[in-house]
This record gives sequence, C-alpha cells and structure tokens, in this order.
Amino acid sequence: MTDKYLSAVNSGFTKTLAKKLGLPRPAVLRRYRSGDPLVPGPVLVIGEPGSAADTTAVAQALLGWDLDVRQNANGAETRWGAIVVVLTGATSPADFSAPVLELGANLRQLAPGGRVVTVSRAPADDDTPLLAATRQGVDGFLRSLAKELRAGATANGIQLTDGAAPDCTSALATLRFFLSARSAFVDGQLLHVGPVASAEAPDWDRPLAGRVAVVTGAARGIGAAIARTLARDGATVVVVDVPAAGESLAKVANEIKGTALQLDVTADDAGARILEHARTRHGGLHILVHNAGILRDKLLANMSPDKWDAVIAVNLLSQLRINDYLLGASGFSEAPHIVSLASTSGIAGNRGQTNYGASKAGVIGHTRATARLLAPLGGSANAVAPGFIETDMTASIPLVQREMARRVSSLQQGGLPIDVAEAIAFLASPAAVGVNGQVLRVCGQSLVGA
Ligand code: NAD
Repeated sequence: MTDKYLSAVNSGFTKTLAKKLGLPRPAVLRRYRSGDPLVPGPVLVIGEPGSAADTTAVAQALLGWDLDVRQNANGAETRWGAIVVVLTGATSPADFSAPVLELGANLRQLAPGGRVVTVSRAPADDDTPLLAATRQGVDGFLRSLAKELRAGATANGIQLTDGAAPDCTSALATLRFFLSARSAFVDGQLLHVGPVASAEAPDWDRPLAGRVAVVTGAARGIGAAIARTLARDGATVVVVDVPAAGESLAKVANEIKGTALQLDVTADDAGARILEHARTRHGGLHILVHNAGILRDKLLANMSPDKWDAVIAVNLLSQLRINDYLLGASGFSEAPHIVSLASTSGIAGNRGQTNYGASKAGVIGHTRATARLLAPLGGSANAVAPGFIETDMTASIPLVQREMARRVSSLQQGGLPIDVAEAIAFLASPAAVGVNGQVLRVCGQSLVGA
C-alpha cells in the first residue's frame, strides 16, 4: 500500500503547490541502506556540567565509530547529523537549562533525517523528590521536543538504570539504533537500559550472525519484513504461518534461505513443533518473534464470543503457551531473546478494539514478567508496539479513517513494515540485552492517546 499524499508533496509541481498552500508536508524518511553513513553529518555532543566524564565517554565511543564528533558548536555553520545531550549527572531541574538551551540554539542546523538523543538516568524507587523530579523531567522535555522537529528528524532518549555506564555495550547499541536510519519511525521514545553486557563484542554490521530465529505470521506484512531483516542481519530464520498461507510462506523462506514451518500458533503442540523444527533443521533456537496476530473489530455491545475468543487466542494465549513450553523444556540456546508484537491500541485503547486492546495490553504485561525469567539466562523479552503501519491489515481501514491515522503523528505519515522489523532486529541482538521488559513504540510518535 502506498501513501499517495506523501509522494505528491515530495515531487514536482504538487510539491511546489503544497508549499505555496502551506499544506502539511511529511518528509521522506531516512531509512537504512547498506553503505550509507550512520548519521547525515557531524555529531554534536553536549553535556550538563555535572556529567562531564560521561559526556567524554559518549564522545569517545562515537569517535570509535569513525564519526566526526564535536563537543563545541563554536558558531559552526555545520549541518548536524545528530546532537547527543548527556544529562546523567543532573541533580536538579535547574541543571538542564544550559545544555537544553545550547541544544535549542543548534536545532535549526539539524540535517533532514537528523537525530537528537538524550542520555540520562532513569528515575528509581529510592530517589529523593528532587532527584525524581529531575530525572522524570527529561521524559516531558524529550517527548515535547520530538513534536517540534521537522524534515524527518527524530528525538529519542536513553535512560540508564542500576548505575549503568553511558558507554556500556547495551547503552551504545541503543544509541547506535537511535542515531541510525534503522529507527526512522521511532520518535519521542525513551528506553531503559541496564548494565548487563553481552559476552561477545558487538558486530554492528551483522549483529545476528550465528543466531537461529523463529518468526510467526511471516507469510506477509510485518512478519515477512521481520524475517527478511533478521536474515539481512545474519540470522538463520524459520518462518511460521498457517497452512493456508503456505505458498507465500515458502516464497519468503526461499528468498531468505531459511526454512518454512506451516503451523497454527494456537495449536496445543505449537511450542513443541517450533522447537523440534529449529533444533533438527538448524541446531538450536536463540530468537523468537511472536508476530502472528489478527483483528476482529466490533463495538463491545456487538461483540460475539467467537470474535473475542479468536483474538485473545491468536494474539495472546498462543504466545503464553509457546513461551511456557520453551522455557519449561529448556528449549532455548544460550542468551535467548523474545520479541512480541503489541500495538499502540494496547497502550491507548481504540474504539471497536476491546478484544484487540486486551490482547495487546496482555502482551505488554506478560513481556514484563517473561523478562524476569530470561534475565538469568542472559537473555531478554521485549515488546514492540507499532502505530499505523502500511500493511494489508491497515489497507482494510476505511479511507478517511486511514488518512487521519496516517497524519496524526509527529512524522505525519504511517510507518512501513521495515520500520517495525528494524526495531525487532535491534531488540533481538545480543548487544541490546540490557534493554529488558520494555515496550518500544514504533509509531512516529502517534498523537492519538500518546
Ligand atoms: P497481517 O494480517 O498482514 O499478517 C499477519 C500474519 O499472521 C498473516 O500472514 C497471517 O496468516 C498470520 N497468522 C494469523 N493467525 C495465525 C495463526 N493462528 N497462526 C499462524 N499465523 C497466523 O498483519 P500485519 O499488519 O503484518 O501485523 C503483524 C503484527 O503486527 C500483528 O500482531 C499485528 O497485531 C501487529 N500490529 C500491526 C499494526 C499495523 O498497523 N499493521 C499495528 C499494530 C500492531
């Protein structure tokens, strides 16, 4: 499905007309292409005075990626590819004023598709009121700033927990994801990052090399994009879908040199069949992506038992049953990562989607609990909550509603399946293991229920 308005306001005569009429002009987003630079220009690293050591550590890490890093704008005429603001040492809201105003003074020079990333400390249960106010303040600042940026630029934040250093592996993996074109449709989001580090040094180009991944609902849409992206990043991928989708499933498997497993995820033996296939065909199982999902929208007053039950069974109970089996049977190989598809409907609710909202909120709930079970295994469980993504599922939404859903985000457009897939590949990578039990929204900072 294509967004014709987005194409029209970005080309030829209609671009000029849209400019003259002052119509909203969603930008063509900067998406990942092999060989492109990580950021579209030099990176300015700004630090709050109490964060000087952490600011230097972040700047050093960026230099290690061969980026052009500046710690002082010095009135430069540069178009910044990214601006990173380190606020880890702040102990009072007053400490923000200088770095934030310095950031503001440089925003007009942020390149199209540029990035702002804050690095701060997450609020903790034993914070004093002053410290809690300081740390929570970053949240409101970041989300508001994201709504001010234009031309496909985004703002996202890293919140370090449990004393994690800003240059620990998982913080750097998260920083790299936010800076890169892989996070094109992630905007106004903050991720907690703990100090857990993966055993191996990260391979940033093929982060999933040597890993075996299973993706459910992979015959089309977001699932097929996830399978392609995990394979691009080095994983061997098993694609799973219902027998009725067997032909398209086989095409996806062939394209990515993976294998296909025809399976209804609601089957009692789904976990056993997934494990048996992954072990016998590929020697193990490291990554599980619960993507299979269905919609059966109805107002609750008109909801039939079959519509309610089908959505809960496919979107939620199947995930719980498969996870229970795999964890009970010690089915995962070392350092397992589970990523489950939630939805912004499971966070903000959506009219006509009580069943879907319940299932997706349930996914967020079980992810938090599953995260605690995977941490001792050196793994993680996270959820990704897409907003409006251009797929067959959303093509069935009536035109006016669909057009509204596209525009009411900070990026003024819907996302693409690849945007969700990139977020999942990041969360499934060994280097991101310190991100655990989180919900990452891939919604262009949807303004509905945000
Ligand atoms: P889609 O309908 O295009 O694809 C879903 C796939 O899941 C299909 O191939 C289908 O055959 C498969 N599937 C359904 N039931 C299954 C079962 N019982 N066993 C095995 N496979 C089954 O959907 P999509 O838009 O690609 O969505 C993928 C996921 O992302 C879903 O979980 C969905 O809820 C979620 N999501 C999508 C959007 C969006 O805007 N498209 C937004 C938020 C969340």
